[in-house]
Amino acid sequence: MSFTSLGLIPALLKAVQEQGYTTPSPIQEKTIPIILERKDVLASAQTGTGKTAGFTLPMLQILSQTQKKKYRPIRALILTPTRELAAQVHNNVKEYSAFLNLRSTVIFGGVNAKPQISTIRQGIDVLVATPGRLLDLENQRALSLSRVEILVLDEADRMLDMGFLRDIKKIISLVPSKRQNLLFSATFSKEIKQLAQGILHNPILIEAEPENTTAERVNQKVYRVDKEDKIKVVIQLISEGDWKQVLIFTRTKHRANKLSEKLVKAGISSAAIHGNKSQGARTKALSGFKAQKIRVLVATDIAARGLDIPLLPHVINFELPNIPEDYVHRIGRTGRAGASGEAISLVDVDEIEYIKAIEKLLKESIPSEIIEGFEPTNKPTQGEPKSNNRNRNQQRKPRSQDKNNRQNRNRRRR
Ligand code: AMP
Repeated sequence: MSFTSLGLIPALLKAVQEQGYTTPSPIQEKTIPIILERKDVLASAQTGTGKTAGFTLPMLQILSQTQKKKYRPIRALILTPTRELAAQVHNNVKEYSAFLNLRSTVIFGGVNAKPQISTIRQGIDVLVATPGRLLDLENQRALSLSRVEILVLDEADRMLDMGFLRDIKKIISLVPSKRQNLLFSATFSKEIKQLAQGILHNPILIEAEPENTTAERVNQKVYRVDKEDKIKVVIQLISEGDWKQVLIFTRTKHRANKLSEKLVKAGISSAAIHGNKSQGARTKALSGFKAQKIRVLVATDIAARGLDIPLLPHVINFELPNIPEDYVHRIGRTGRAGASGEAISLVDVDEIEYIKAIEKLLKESIPSEIIEGFEPTNKPTQGEPKSNNRNRNQQRKPRSQDKNNRQNRNRRRR
């Protein structure tokens, strides 16, 4: 299959060629012709599948073929959950529209709104936005969504996780009811299906990969370790493996900062990226990492969502996520665009239930090993792991652990 046979116009074929893409990815093969037919799409696709080009290329084609010359209202709106993803999607839009007479811009919070407003005032065809800033500017009448023809919800599951449902509903009320809708989500939860029902009209269902399975190219491994040894293990893995680029996930912002500091002290260049960092600091960390000036990027789930870091060979889960679906997102950072990758999870005794929930979701078990010199000895701590609504059942401790906990409690009382 070639890009030409998908029905793309020469200006887009040229742009794709400039990016070095030779063949469309499976999701692109499926989405491009359907979107060009002006149908609504509900697609399950993770980052790394080429989904952005999958919706952007046909969207740009439709816009350029139906362009009205006189003025430029916002005709396509792409909503993303995070600032980083918005910036990244906009970069793709710019690259793919390089040979078209279309204008685009990106807006998100955490930075001065004035330049964003003045760019929009000059007229743009495509707007990439995070929901909060979009509604802010709409409230100020700095932009109008009344001429939107194509609405894209990218990483819709994450938008719901981040509490954007109300904002999304508000935005839907501001765009014309006659429009084309494209909804992309890494997972198809009940909530996503509900949202899709309220937004999409007779959508074509597209699945890039079977639901909730990990890319086969990712080699997954669990190392059972004690919590207090994790930093030493990370340093050993990076140093002995001579790893050039590593993405490490923590559950909390605090842990991300601490780990990054410790790595720097150990002589390994590192930066942390999370929601408490300013936009400038996040952008700087990400570009430093991409330019290979920084060896380790430590990130929380939300901050890392949708980051485009091509050919990343190693991902470490310093702590497992308490939402099993986040594991799928995390390891989607490796083994991308044809390259193989390795995802290592450092699992302490209190995280055993997390790994079980993840394995249940993946419907496969992840090989577990013990590193010489770091054999785990800890007993489970009382109260861990915290349950969350989605996985309450999965995260109940097995009897033996409950018993251990009881024994620990009794010992403490004594
Ligand atoms: P995405 O899933 O949209 O985040 O894309 C993941 C990565 O794949 C990005 O770095 C894209 O530039 C790249 N990519 C997208 N489509 C193709 C393609 N057809 N061939 C090679 N790389 C691609």
